[in-house]
This record gives sequence, structure tokens and C-alpha cells, in this order.
Amino acid sequence: MKILLSLYLVLALISTQFLAAFFFSKGRTSYRKAFSALVLAICIYLSGYLMIINTSNLQEMIFWNQIQYLGLPFISVLWLMVALFYTKTIYPLRKWMVALLFLVPVITFLVRLTNSWHHLFYLSFEARQLFGYYSLYMERGYWYYVNISYTILCLLLTVIIYFWGHLKNKADYTKSNFLVFLFASLLPLIGIMLILFSYEKQSIDYTALIMPISLLIIGYGIIKYDFLEIRTLARETIFENNLVGMVVLGPGQRVVDFNNAAEKFFNALNITLDNYPIEHILSKEPKLLEIFNSKVTRDFSLVIEGEERFFEIDAVPLGNPHNGTDKMLKSIRDVTEVRKIQEKLKVLATIDSLSGLFNRAEFMNLAQKEFVWSKRQHKNFSLLMMDLDCFKAINDTFGHAAGDEVIREMGRLIMSNFRKTDIAGRIGGEEFALVLKNASLKEAMKAAEQFRKIVAEKKVICGKQEITFTVSIGVAAICFDNNDSCILEDLLKKADDALYRAKADGRNCVAI
Ligand code: GH3
Ligand code: MG
Ligand code: MG
Repeated sequence: MKILLSLYLVLALISTQFLAAFFFSKGRTSYRKAFSALVLAICIYLSGYLMIINTSNLQEMIFWNQIQYLGLPFISVLWLMVALFYTKTIYPLRKWMVALLFLVPVITFLVRLTNSWHHLFYLSFEARQLFGYYSLYMERGYWYYVNISYTILCLLLTVIIYFWGHLKNKADYTKSNFLVFLFASLLPLIGIMLILFSYEKQSIDYTALIMPISLLIIGYGIIKYDFLEIRTLARETIFENNLVGMVVLGPGQRVVDFNNAAEKFFNALNITLDNYPIEHILSKEPKLLEIFNSKVTRDFSLVIEGEERFFEIDAVPLGNPHNGTDKMLKSIRDVTEVRKIQEKLKVLATIDSLSGLFNRAEFMNLAQKEFVWSKRQHKNFSLLMMDLDCFKAINDTFGHAAGDEVIREMGRLIMSNFRKTDIAGRIGGEEFALVLKNASLKEAMKAAEQFRKIVAEKKVICGKQEITFTVSIGVAAICFDNNDSCILEDLLKKADDALYRAKADGRNCVAI
């Protein structure tokens, strides 16, 4: 009998270990991790039992019983954890609630470890002979019953969770799998009942005998329905490792789940995500809370490690939208790089790189908008056309690079001598245009004359050369009070004509 029992235990140890290794090799979902921990706890327990039945020395038996308690107290709670993970019941639970589940097992472990001081767990030990081998008989103490009650509670909860999963799930394959798991969890419960009520007589640890069978049944269930698990694994992996931060909000806007990227995002704000309503979590970030409550895509910026980063926060309703949108997936996408490129492209597309002013297309675009606005508001609108005088001669005398430097200087002069709100553009090689907002012809003329003088006095140093240059300016203006049929092109033509006249008048002058 002893040989048979030992053989059974050795086989059980080998097969459960193989099972654990097999699962782990197939991928690490959270439920597989819990399952592996469960198998480990059971193996420790079975090894202890194997040693106990193979000795007749009471002290050795007590020692191996102690070893058993390295794993035993945690078996039922890990069994429950597997169920919580497998059925995804764990997500609404807070971290402290999950930690609390381990309180009784940890106390049991400590009480058993220190039993010789207080005898709270076992009152006495005795080696009894049975079927030709010795077994350990213990008189149970107060905490033994606390532990066994907790064990039964955990296993009952496990059974209920699987049963609930079976009822709730509509797909046939999920339903059957929950049934397999339910059956496998009922077995250790039966084992414990047998121990509670007949251990004194038999001295056989029924749980130790039954547990490997339970594990193998679970193993069968998992392997049979493994394709399901691959899907879960893929989904969990994608969720966990996605660069897009994701927060799942359940009823009452409570945080149900979140991934690593979301955790990182909230860490940057010194906020810890947990299973609380989002309102509570974001109580110190009203702006972000408002975004989280919104159902459309919103922008949010944040300084991380000294650099401003931009995020797009999106909302995707989960489940059937007709049943209300109390379940939401909030995605947090870091769009900093895209924004930077967009910004660069915008500058490249609208700014002239030499002068730093708007390019021709953008100048026309903005001038048109301003023109329409001024027309609607009955405001004055003035236009300056400028052309550098004898620029070809500058190029020919000092070189093309010097000519470029003069264009650069023109850009700087325009920017520093006109209002920030005025629209300035380089519309040709050495031609510039300016919209003076809400300026009358007289004011525009005055500004043009002032600027002409500033240009004439400016010296550009290029190498050892000192270059002076002049500009001719044509001014045109419109007062929309009494002229509504005019279009921008008319005014541009008038300013151009004026410029032509300024050139004809001997250059370095203003014409209207
Ligand atoms: P005017 O007083 O009648 O305007 O004479 P101008 O020499 O300024 O006019 P013209 O149209 O004959 O010559 C313009 C010159 O500007 C010709 C062209 O080589 C030069 N130019 C155009 N774009 C650039 C540029 O980006 N850099 C430089 N260095 N020169 C340019
Ligand atoms: Mg010119
Ligand atoms: Mg020209």
C-alpha cells in the first residue's frame, strides 16, 4: 500500500510539474501565472506528504508536515485566483482586496511555523500505523479550523465563480470549459470534507490524492480549449504592451482595467490608477477629468522629463451602445512626434526660409482672409508692395551670397518695424508685400516712407564689404465704407502700379 501510494504521488508530482511547464511554455497570461503558482504550492504539499508516509520517525514527520505548510495554506486562495483571472472577475477588485485574500493563508503559515510555542494549530502529534505504513496524526487546534473554514470558503467561491461563468457565457465552448473547471474545483472540496469528518479513523490525506486528479482535469480543459486561450493571450498581450495608453471604465466611471502605457502616463502626473471612479482619481486634475468625461477626441499636453508632450485622448464605447455607454475604453495616444512633423511641414509650406516672412502662397491666403474680414467689418485695408532697387547690381557686385544676406536683412527689418499683427510676405525674388491692418492710405503712406528711410540707412556687412541698399514702395488702400465691389486682386494691381511709378520716379521712394 505504501509503495502504491508513493508511486501515485511521484507520478502525480511529475505530471503536474510537466503540466505547469507546458502551460508556461505556451504563453504567460495572468491566469497561467496564477495556475503555475497553484501547481507549485500543490507540488510542495504532495512532496511533504510523500516524505511523511515514507518515514516512521515522528520528528521527521513533523518536519515534513512543516514543509507541507510552505504550500498548503496558499492552495485554496490560488485556486480562487485562477478562477478570478480566468473568468476576468478580478478586474473590478481593488489591489488591496486581492492582497487581503492572502491574509489568512499568510497567518496560517506563520501560526504553523511557530506552533511549538503556542499550539494554536496542532495540539499534539502522534505517529500511527496504518495499512503497513506510519502516518502522522495531529490533534487540531483553534487556528486549524479557521484555516480549514477559509479553505472551504475559497473553494466554494471558486465553484460559484465558475458556475456563474457557465451561466453567463453564451458560447458553447466557453460554457463547457467553465463546467470542466467547476468539476475540477469541486473535487478538492470533497477531499477536505472527507478529511474533516473521517481523518481520525483513516489517517489518509484525501486532498493529496484528489488534487493531482483535479489539476489533470483542468489541464485537459485548458488543452482542449487552448485555441480560446491563444485568443485571450493575444488580446491580453496586445492590451498590455500597446504603446497607446488604455483605461477601461466600467459602470459609474470606475476604472476597471488599464495597461502599462496608461500607468506611465498617469505616473507622469503623480497619479496612481486603481479601481476607483475616475472622478475620484482625477480630483486634482480637473482639466483631464473633463477630457475623460467627454465622448469625443480631445487634446492634452503634459511636460514629461522637461519636454512637452502631446496626447490625443479618445473614447470608444464598449458593449452594446443601445444599452447606454456606461462602459468605455479611453485611449491615450502620444502624438508628440506627429505634431512636431506637422509643425515642421507647416513652417516649410508657409514660411520663406530666406527672409523668415510668409511665402507667396501663404501671404495671398492670409491677405485674402484679412481682406474679407475688413470688408465685413467696414475697416480700412492697406497694401504695400516693395521691391529692392537695382538688386541685380548688388548680386553682380558683391556676389549672390551677399544678395541673400540683403534679403535676410530685409526680412528682419520688416519684422521689427511693422506691427506683429500686420501680414508680411516675400512674394518674389526681391519683392515683398505687406498688409497693414485697419490703416488708412495716409497712415500706410507714412509707415511706408518711414520704412524706406530705415532701409536706406541700413548697412549690411558681408565679409569685408559694407552694402547699402534701397527700396521702392507702392501703396494702395481701400476704405470699405463706400466701396464694396473691390476685390483683393484690384488692390494688388493698384499697389503694383504704384510701385512701377516709384521705380519710374527714380527709385528709393514711395508712390500711391
Ligand atoms: P529694379 O530696381 O528695377 O527692381 O532692378 P532689379 O535689379 O532689382 O530688378 P531685376 O528684376 O532686374 O533683378 C532682380 C534680381 O534679383 C535678379 C535675380 O537674380 C535676383 N534674385 C532673385 N531672387 C534672388 C535670391 O533669392 N537671391 C539673390 N541673391 N538674388 C536673387
Ligand atoms: Mg528690384
Ligand atoms: Mg523685382
